[in-house]
Parts: sequence; C-alpha cells; structure tokens
Amino acid sequence: MTETIARSDAGPTGDIPTRRLFIAGEWVDTVSGRTFESRNPADSRDVVGHFQAGSAADVGMAVKAAEMAFPAWRATPAPKRGEILYRTGQLMAEHKERLARALTREMGKVIAEARGDVQEGIDIAFLMGGEGRRMFGDTVPSELPDKWAMSIRQPIGIAGIITPWNFPIAIPCWKMMPALVAGNTVVFKPASDTPHCATLLVELMAEAGFPPGTVNLVTGSGSDVGDPIVDSPDVAVISFTGHSANGKLIAARAGRRLKRLSLELGGKNAIAVLRDADLDLAVEGILWSAFGTTGQRCTACSRVVVEEPVVDALLTRLEARARALRIGDGQEEATEVGPLINEPAVEKVESYIEIGRAEAELVTGGRRATGEGLSDGHYFEPTIFTGVHPMDRIGQEEIFGPVLSVIPVADYEAAVTAVNQVRYGLSASIYTRDVNAAFRAMRDFETGIVYVNAGTTGAETHLPFGGWKETGNGHREAGHAALDTYTEWKSIYVDFSGRLQKAQIDNQPG
Ligand code: NAP
Repeated sequence: MTETIARSDAGPTGDIPTRRLFIAGEWVDTVSGRTFESRNPADSRDVVGHFQAGSAADVGMAVKAAEMAFPAWRATPAPKRGEILYRTGQLMAEHKERLARALTREMGKVIAEARGDVQEGIDIAFLMGGEGRRMFGDTVPSELPDKWAMSIRQPIGIAGIITPWNFPIAIPCWKMMPALVAGNTVVFKPASDTPHCATLLVELMAEAGFPPGTVNLVTGSGSDVGDPIVDSPDVAVISFTGHSANGKLIAARAGRRLKRLSLELGGKNAIAVLRDADLDLAVEGILWSAFGTTGQRCTACSRVVVEEPVVDALLTRLEARARALRIGDGQEEATEVGPLINEPAVEKVESYIEIGRAEAELVTGGRRATGEGLSDGHYFEPTIFTGVHPMDRIGQEEIFGPVLSVIPVADYEAAVTAVNQVRYGLSASIYTRDVNAAFRAMRDFETGIVYVNAGTTGAETHLPFGGWKETGNGHREAGHAALDTYTEWKSIYVDFSGRLQKAQIDNQPG
C-alpha cells in the first residue's frame, strides 16, 4: 500500500468522515461547496458519512480527465488492462468482509447477502479480467480469393455509469469492469443512498492500478450529476440501472445525441407454482425471492401465480414462514429481513398496502415492524396478499418492498398469461415436476431470465443479465454480452490479391 491510498472506513461511533470526489486520480472537494449525508437504514441516528454534492462543473472536470486518459488506456493492450481488473478482484476478495460490513451499514441488506453482493463484484472483475485475453471477434472466409475478413471490438470512449443503491458494489462492477477492459474510461455516479460503498470500491480500484483519469467518481444527485453526464457531448455511452420512469427520461435525453444507452429497469417478477410442485421447495424459493433484501432486488418475486388446487396448502405454509422471519439489523448474522432503504420507501410500501387492502385479502404483515431495536430503522413486516387478480395494481406495479401477491389461476395456460401480463420482463420461475410443463415455461415466459424449481433471484455473472419489455432496452449486463454495450464493432477486409476484387459482383454466374 502506498501513501496515496486513502481508506474511508469509520466505525459507527467514530468521527463522521467527509468523503471526496475522485477525479484525475485525486480525491477532491466539489466546486459546489455542498455536502450530503448517508445514514444507516437500520438506525437512522447513525451517520455513515458526509459526501460531496457534486455539480455540473465537477462532471465537466471528470469528463475532461476521462477524455485525457482515454488515448493511453485505449492503447494499453487488453490483457494488461485485464490484469488491473484481476488485481481489483483480488483486492476486493482481501477486503470482502470490510466491504460487506460497510454495505450492510449503508444499504441495510443482511450481512450474508452483502457478502454475496461483494462476491458478485469480485466474480465480474475476474470474468472481465479474462475478457482482456478473449474479447472475441469473428474471423470468417471471404467470398473472394486472396482476401481475409474479420471483425474486432474497439472501445467507444467515455462511459457514464449511473447506478442504484440496491446492489451498491455488484452493479457498479457489472458496468465498470466490461467498460474498462474494453478500453473505455468511466465517469461513475452512484446512488445518493450508497455513496460510501462507491467510495470504498473506487479506492480499491485506484489501489489496483487504474491510471489517473481512467476511473472518476462524482457523487451527488440525479439532477446535478446524473443529468450532466447524460447530456455531455463527450460521454459516448451511458449505462443506467434504476426505475423505469427515470430510464425513460434518460433515454429521451440521450436520444437527442444518439448516444449508446444501456438501461436496466424495473421488474414485477413471478413464480408459477403448478399443482404437482414440491410445495416445501417452492416455499423456500418464494420466501428467499420475495423477502430477501427486503423485497428490494430487481429480481425480487412479488407475484406467486398458483394453480387453484394448491393455493390453500401453499398459503398456509407461506404465512407461517413469513410470520417467523427474523426482522432486524442486517449486521446480526441471525437477521433474515433487514430494513427498507429510507423513509420514502416505507411510505411507498404503506401506500401500496392501502391499495392492496382495497383490491385483495391481506394474509399477514401490512405494517411497519416494531419491537426491540427497530424503532430507529425503516423496518416493514413481510406482507402477503391473496386473491389478487393479475391486473390489480399490486399485481402490476413495482412496489420494491416485502410485499407478495398470491394470484390463483385455473391451469398452466392461465399461469403463463398471468406471468406475462405485466409491462416488465426480468425474471420468472416455475415450480413443477412435469418436465414438459417446465420446458413449455422456458419457451413461453417473456422474461430475460427463467428459473426452473428455483426462485427468481440468483443470476450468475457469466450469463447475460437483463430483461424484456420495459425492464430494459435490449442490452445485457454480465457475460460476454456486456461487452456489446461498451464496444463498437469494426469489420476489416484484407485483400492480398493485388487486383481490384468486387464483392457480390465478381465470381457470380453470368
Ligand atoms: P432510481 O431512483 O431510478 O436511481 C438510480 C440512479 O439514477 C441513482 O444514481 C439516481 O441518483 C440516478 N438518477 C435518478 N434520476 C436521474 C435522472 N433524471 N438523470 C440521471 N440520473 C438519475 O432507482 P433506485 O431507487 O436507485 O433503484 C431501484 C430501481 O432500480 C428499481 O426500479 C429496480 O427494479 C431497478 N433495478 C433494476 C435492475 C436491473 O438489472 N434491471 C437492477 C437493480 C435495480 P440519486 O440516487 O441521486 O437519485
């Protein structure tokens, strides 16, 4: 470790630190002179830190730094770029517990899931590090003699990375690692609820050896920092994960400049349970998918579509297990459900409880969670509604909290219709012992991810991740598909015949 490495840890009882922006390899204050707080959702008295409220001027400096770093980074051999990613993954692995603890403190998910979030970041760093030695194009035969044809990937330029709070280590890694290995430089704006996680990650990236200006961090609001990144004529590609409504606004802005834009947006994911399913197995998957991360995963299951003959048996098991879930501070290993991210999130969930009471039958939950140690956090009881119609608002709209709708249906066909009858299309699952039904679901579900006899969450980093319909705009994160967002294709023809050869004209009959 060198003297230039700053670490931004502080215990809950230590001095409250003020963090900085990272621009051109330096930790600097915002020109706005303003800061904002990040607080622990499990105990809102605990201030995690003060962070720079960045401005358009800071974005301008970060973009300039990224622009200046681009030629040298682009010229660095991809395997060498990959080695720095690999080193980042190693550092993250060495610091996994520290990162996970900080993540739980700032975002609230239980510590086991926080470790998983960090592990996803490590996995993608290693996967993309390896892409430095692959990044395959095609080499194909030419239709003409003495001619070669091939395609290669090249970086686009500066990537604007705008991320949500719910996977505050994994999602920035999903975006920055492919962007960087492909030879782009980045300007990274994290969610205002999780600036500390972003700071810790960028500290490790700096330590891993990314050259100054290659990775720039600008904290601050969507309007003060996000919009200037999207509007900058020098930022060639935007990768955004967040609400569908914000994605549409960003698409309109980016569209004016015909920017490359990758959108990963909302979800309303369903688990279908057929009458022949292993119900105990289904209950495990439903609980994990619906109430893990307090229902705040993009892949969270918020709808269970059940064949009528097994509704009662499933509901009895689900209710008992949901009532028994341990709610509390995610730092405690025994906690199963942590807090929601902030007070507006609690209020949003409460508003959907009212809507749900009017539309369906409340089985359990429906209130802020109270009890010892919960009074200063944003806790909400795991909630189940039954008798939900597929077109009810609680069956259609993304609530992003621990609220599950049980939707009874007559048969497989009705189940598929219900699963697909939403404007989102991220993840869906089916529980059945019927191999034919399982294969039909794999074919019929209109989602980017399908699970069989497993919940709706748990994607692995070497396959493409993303959704159909209003969950996105056709791009994918993770896997080698992620490189499509951050690279331009170049097709190259080498003619060594020594004469003019005309494709589609020479060598044709007649
Ligand atoms: P969000 O409110 O849309 O914010 C996402 C990021 O965009 C934040 O950094 C936010 O900044 C910024 N932002 C907001 N409005 C902006 C604008 N007009 N211009 C530029 N930047 C803007 O979403 P969130 O609450 O953080 O995340 C939850 C949502 O993300 C859910 O809908 C969830 O389904 C979705 N999600 C999707 C995936 C996926 O892969 N499909 C994965 C995870 C989450 P501030 O924080 O400063 O407001």
